[in-house]
Amino acid sequence: MELESILLPGIDAKRPLIIAGPCSAETEEQVMQTARELSSRGIKIFRAGIWKPRTKPGGFEGVGADALPWLKRVKTELGMYTAVEVATAKHVRDCLTNDVDILWIGARTSANPFAVQEIADALEGIDIPVLIKNPVNPDLDLWIGAIERIYNAGIRKIGAIHRGFSTADKKIYRNLPQWHIPIELHRQLPNLPIICDPSHIGGKRELIAPLCQQAMDLNFDGLIIESHCHPEKAWSDAAQQITPAVLEFILNTIVIRDITQSTESLAALRRQIDELDDSLLELLARRMRVSNEIGQYKKEHNMPILQAQRYDEILQHRISQAEKMEMDAEFMKTVLVAIHEESVRHQMIIMK
Ligand code: PEP
Ligand code: MN
Repeated sequence: MELESILLPGIDAKRPLIIAGPCSAETEEQVMQTARELSSRGIKIFRAGIWKPRTKPGGFEGVGADALPWLKRVKTELGMYTAVEVATAKHVRDCLTNDVDILWIGARTSANPFAVQEIADALEGIDIPVLIKNPVNPDLDLWIGAIERIYNAGIRKIGAIHRGFSTADKKIYRNLPQWHIPIELHRQLPNLPIICDPSHIGGKRELIAPLCQQAMDLNFDGLIIESHCHPEKAWSDAAQQITPAVLEFILNTIVIRDITQSTESLAALRRQIDELDDSLLELLARRMRVSNEIGQYKKEHNMPILQAQRYDEILQHRISQAEKMEMDAEFMKTVLVAIHEESVRHQMIIMK
C-alpha cells in the first residue's frame, strides 16, 4: 500500500498524534466549551460523534447534521481540525460540504463490507484522511478488507484505530484489547499509522492512563481519547470520558519511549511478550472462573469432580491441536496437566 501521511498542516509529526473530544456532540455550548478547554491545552484535532450507532434503540442517537455548524465554529474560532464518524454515503456528503477535516469509520460499520463499500464509493476522487476502526469482532482480515476498500477508492491518507473487540466477559475491559491483532496489522501493513482508542477499550475513566501507556509502549502512532467538559453528565459513554484537564495530566504523565535504536526494538519485543503473558493470565483466570461454575453445578447435581473420560478427551484433542501449531506434545501435556490440577483444586474448594 502506497500511503501518504495522515498528518495535516500544523500537526506535529512526533508521537503521539492526539485526537480528543466528546463521544457525542450534544449541544453547541458543550461542543464549544469542550473544544475551548482542549484547544487551550494544545489539542489540535477535535473529535465528536454526531450520528451515534447505539447497541439498543432508544438511547441518544446523536444530533445529526445539525451539529455540523457547531464543528465549523470549532474550526473557525479555535483553529482546530475536526473529525467525525461516518456510517453512510450521506454522512460523508454532509461532512464534506461542511468542511469536516477527518472522517472515521466506526467499529459497527467496519464490520459490514456493504456499508464500507458505500462509504468508499462516496469518497471516490476526494482527498481527506480516513481512519478505520477495527470491526467489533476480532477479525483482522475484515479490518484489512475495510482498509483496502477505502484505499481502492483512491484515499491515500489512511490510519487505523484500535478500539478493542466485543466480549461478553466485561470483567475488566469494555472491549478486549487483544493487542496481538493490531500488532499483526502493523506487521502486514507497516506504513499504516495505528491509533489507539483507550476510551472504548477501557470503558471506564481509570483505565485510560494505563491503556495510553501500553499503547505507547507498543509503539502506536497516536491516541484518540474521549474528553467532555462535564463527563459525568455526558449523554453517551459517560463512564469513560475525562475532562480536558485530566487528559492533559495523562498526556504529561505517560512516558514516550523512542524505539528507533536496536536495543529499543528488543525492549519493544519484550513488551509484546509482557502483553501476551498478561493475556495468557487473563485467559487462565477466566478459565478458572468457568471451572468454578462447573464445580458449583457438579455440587448441586451430586456429581464427582473428576470425569476421567472428559479429561482424556481434552488432553488428546488439545495435544493434537498444539502439534499442528508447532508446539511439542510433551510441553502441551505438561501445561494442560498443570491447568487441570489448578481447576480441580478450585472445584474441591467449592465442593467443601
Ligand atoms: C465512538 O468513537 O464514539 C464510537 C462509537 O466508537 P466505536 O465505533 O469504536 O464503538
Ligand atoms: Mn463513544
